[in-house]
Amino acid sequence: MKKVVKFGGSSLASAGQIKKAVEIIRSDASRRYVIPSAPGKRYSDDVKVTDLLYQCYDEAAAGRDITARIDRIKKRYVEIIEGLELDLDLTEEFEVIRDYFMRQAGRDYAASRGEYLNGLILSAYTGFRFIDPAKVICFDESGNFDSERTHAILREYLKSIEYAVIPGFYGAMPDGSIKTFSRGGSDITGSIVARAVRADVYENWTDVSGVLVTDPHIVSNPEVIETITYRELRELSYMGAQVLHEDAIFPVRKEGIPINIRNTNRPEDPGTMIVESTCRQPKYVITGIAGKKGFCAINIEKDMMNSELGFGRRVLQVFEENGISFEHMPSGIDTLTVLVHQSEFMEKEQTVIAGLHRTVFPDMIDMEGDLALIAVVGRGMKAKKGTAGQLFSALSHARVNIKMIDQGSSELNIIVGVRNEDFEAAIRAIYDVFVNAEKGL
Ligand code: ASP
Repeated sequence: MKKVVKFGGSSLASAGQIKKAVEIIRSDASRRYVIPSAPGKRYSDDVKVTDLLYQCYDEAAAGRDITARIDRIKKRYVEIIEGLELDLDLTEEFEVIRDYFMRQAGRDYAASRGEYLNGLILSAYTGFRFIDPAKVICFDESGNFDSERTHAILREYLKSIEYAVIPGFYGAMPDGSIKTFSRGGSDITGSIVARAVRADVYENWTDVSGVLVTDPHIVSNPEVIETITYRELRELSYMGAQVLHEDAIFPVRKEGIPINIRNTNRPEDPGTMIVESTCRQPKYVITGIAGKKGFCAINIEKDMMNSELGFGRRVLQVFEENGISFEHMPSGIDTLTVLVHQSEFMEKEQTVIAGLHRTVFPDMIDMEGDLALIAVVGRGMKAKKGTAGQLFSALSHARVNIKMIDQGSSELNIIVGVRNEDFEAAIRAIYDVFVNAEKGL
């Protein structure tokens, strides 16, 4: 057994949290490759070290004195080192960092130091070898992640190393300069390492006991999903569920390696397994519910639209020419609706209307803003009759007016459009009927 374990910022925010993480690592000898984030928040209005580093760098770039800011960051690490009773001195490291900041080595370099220093601490505390990702995680000249080059180098490199700490979030460009992934990118590093060592599982340790059926800000204490497929997760993440970095799925997916989301504060909880495919029946018909507000529907009406060849294409072309991507496009015989993100659409609104008039000569165009989309996702829906019926009657009981319905051809999800102000009530109603009612609540 070989496991890659990634710990998020809140799991490594203080000496106390790091002790928990290391206990988890030590309790299973197959946990061989450790990917740390930078220290995150210790309490809700604390500041992540990554943010402190960005702020500090921006001050340096503006030519201001950064002594106090550097000291604040250093203090976070010194507290951790003392709390762990480690014999480790980061004075020289901080001198180098300060020097590089003054020489404006780049924001990516600045942000990466959070993971780098936490990696040094974890390596000293566990005795696992420290590997600087600048040597093994490669970006190309344009700053894009070079997946195949990284895979080849990392695979070879790790063949002879049994236990290692590899900081998350960054790598290097061909000229050696540091490049980071986007925020939350340590999840990607973990996935890349898991692929390279052909891990049996990629454990992603965080501060929740897995992927939740829905947003806990809307439904209190939602259930944890036991098993979810990559495809289901992608649907939910796209619609706003925050679990893993979006790009973290791809490396492990290539090798069919499952991801296990776990809670550092409750290691006894099994968490959520994210898998390629499974014959395990989900506990409920639906796996998860997610949604987003802020959409706008553009309704286009024209008699005999249905028989006009190329009508849909011409409509979409107008959106394309204005740089607006569409989310959904439900249609009737003489009507067609295009759903777009309101914020993207607003400033182009009148240009798009004019473009549509010139291109497809509609009888009428009207628009409705402030809509929300809710995705009800579940591989179990395909085999079960009446899911849509249950969903719509639940919404009608909750007095939610449905503005749009779209069922993906894979029968993996049903998307409903509602008014922004009905968003929360709609999600609660869906959760009630598919989860609470099933539990007999
Ligand atoms: N520390 C980085 C961030 O705050 C990366 C990560 O934690 O994954 O975004």
